[in-house]
Amino acid sequence: MKNFVFLLFIAALFSSCNQTPTEKAKELLQKPATFEQAGKQAEELVKLMTPAERFKLVGGDVMGTFPIKRLGIPAVHFTDASAGIRKNKNYYYDKTTAFPCPQLLAATWDTTMAYQYSRAIGEECRASGIHFLLGPGMNIMRNSLCGRNFEYVGEDPYLAGQIIASYVRGLQSIGTAATLKHFAGNETDFRRRLSNSIISDRALHEIYLQPFKQGVDAGAKAVMTSYNLVNGEWAAQNKHLVTDILKDQFGFKGLVMTDWNSVWNGEKFIQSGVDLEMPTGLAMQRDSSKIFGSKRIDQMAKEILRTCIYAGFYDKNYRDSSLINNWDERAKIAYQTNLEGIVLLKNKGILPIDPTTVKGKILVAGNNAMRKELAGGGSAHVHGYDNKTYLEMVKETFGEDNVNYVEDPSTKDLRSASKIILFCGFPEKGKDAESEGRDRPFVLPDNDLITKAVSLNKNAIVCLQTGGPVQMEWEDQPAAIIQAFYGGQTGSSALMDILTGKANPSGKLPYTFEKRFADSPAAGYDQITSEKLKRVPDDEILPERLANVFTNDKDTARFYTYDDTYSEGIFVGYRWYDKKGLDVRFPFGYGLSYTTYAYDSLNVNKKGDNVVVSFDVKNTGKRAGDEIAQVYVTDKKCSVERPLKELKGFKRISLAPGETKKVELTLKPDAFKFWDESTKHWKLEPGVFNIKVGASSRDIRLNEDVTL
Ligand code: BGC
Repeated sequence: MKNFVFLLFIAALFSSCNQTPTEKAKELLQKPATFEQAGKQAEELVKLMTPAERFKLVGGDVMGTFPIKRLGIPAVHFTDASAGIRKNKNYYYDKTTAFPCPQLLAATWDTTMAYQYSRAIGEECRASGIHFLLGPGMNIMRNSLCGRNFEYVGEDPYLAGQIIASYVRGLQSIGTAATLKHFAGNETDFRRRLSNSIISDRALHEIYLQPFKQGVDAGAKAVMTSYNLVNGEWAAQNKHLVTDILKDQFGFKGLVMTDWNSVWNGEKFIQSGVDLEMPTGLAMQRDSSKIFGSKRIDQMAKEILRTCIYAGFYDKNYRDSSLINNWDERAKIAYQTNLEGIVLLKNKGILPIDPTTVKGKILVAGNNAMRKELAGGGSAHVHGYDNKTYLEMVKETFGEDNVNYVEDPSTKDLRSASKIILFCGFPEKGKDAESEGRDRPFVLPDNDLITKAVSLNKNAIVCLQTGGPVQMEWEDQPAAIIQAFYGGQTGSSALMDILTGKANPSGKLPYTFEKRFADSPAAGYDQITSEKLKRVPDDEILPERLANVFTNDKDTARFYTYDDTYSEGIFVGYRWYDKKGLDVRFPFGYGLSYTTYAYDSLNVNKKGDNVVVSFDVKNTGKRAGDEIAQVYVTDKKCSVERPLKELKGFKRISLAPGETKKVELTLKPDAFKFWDESTKHWKLEPGVFNIKVGASSRDIRLNEDVTL
């Protein structure tokens, strides 16, 4: 078949002598059988284009690439982002499904769910003829305050990598391209255009680039660079990151685009290996006298065309409007993700609540009780449809007459309520919102309300809508605490089903809840002293660009970048809290259920180069439920310092009451390696490794040594 297509292509080339450029282009835009063939077609297409057309292609349009009308090369369309489609002019219909945020997806630890979730988003893209989804995002949660944590998939590179790989496969199974972002070192949104992330080579490889590597291996078609600098060079013009690591080392062959307006030097940019300056190629235009017509631009145009031709993005039937009809299916997937991802943090026995037994009024309060759209802010915000607030759902669930909403409850209101349900998070808008473009405080705006409510009423339930940890000095007092993240359009109904026991909670935290932000390795990152500031060179100033700047001269737009040094190296998240022996509020991998599980019969056996780990998990309670079993590896002795434990396997298991299931996981050699900075390669140092099996990173139930 491949040969046949190739022969057809050759025949077409021969017969092309009498063709007009448009006719030739039409043939060259057809999806071929192989990637190599797509490369050849792209090369021919570039030859048909004028230098001006090539230049236009490699500087994008607002949300996609420009069409080259003379040759009939259509535009290619993009849209944000990871939790569903943020509507833009490329989207055809009047609504899009708001899925729960990707961080909640990570809390499911369910790769099958991740596949279905992204495939469902892909359906809406394809139905509208959108080719690239500008997600998934996967920056590591190093800093609990980062305004975009909700868009990402937690603190651990292994869990993040597994979720991302499935996300990529699911999305691309329907034909839509995944864009891995933001490459790389974009772990804060505090003056994100100016932060210089200083990261060791080992931390880059073991932690920050791992999810990208997994996404590349899963076949992702695109990567988006980030705003920040990495080790002194802007990510969007960073040859070491993009060419040496992403393309040469990881073998990425798709399209690399910049984040929006993040290039400062056109010459460096075109040499970096990035293919597309989004949007509208501003830095390239400024430097056009030096770069227009260069070979690198031809190469960049070729890479863009190659990816799009091979993906079939220029085929007329890429847009498949029949896919839009599956609204109910998609809403079901969104709802199911919520059920699997919402994390029960504390339960003194108040949950589940049987609505038929409720006596006296339930008081509802909190700044998120009336929030319509359960989504974080910025480009990842998805409106959804048929959204119901938590208050509406509490009324529907427990009966309107049994519910009393008070915006600012008095001591009397709080004392007299039979139960209190608080819905607390950050505001939807304003400086304290959890959103792109800023970081948020550690203390919830409703902290005083919670403190008061839980001290006056022992039946208070606190439901959090956040993308990460918050201060919780009141943690011991509530009857229950739930992390509901941002649930999208099905978030409020799913939470009610968990509160009432229709569903058994099973999500587990994809990050550590530290006790205080001062404990975090990121603490102090936003305290900018003059020695952290560096003046940007004159040839990297773009006065026409709006920058969130440290500036001392508004006329010249002179500005400074600041160093954000990841001095903890690879010790991020639980690796840090373990190393420091710090007590945490809730550990990585933690989450409760309405039932209980027991672990037994661990077996660790070498099989060739792999290690096979098997163990039993039993549901010891009276309700069916899902347990997420986790496997961590400890290198007992090594020439370099290693974390006390590292996640290397996990499995979600459904168990009926009393049921036992055997879990078997295979650890490949990679699970035991570290990045050796002296050789710049992964290294497996022989010795004794301890295999730990547990219900969370701080609840290890079984362990056994294996010698490699
Ligand atoms: C964000 C990206 C987003 C892009 C396009 C940028 O500000 O950082 O994540 O994809 O805008 O909307």
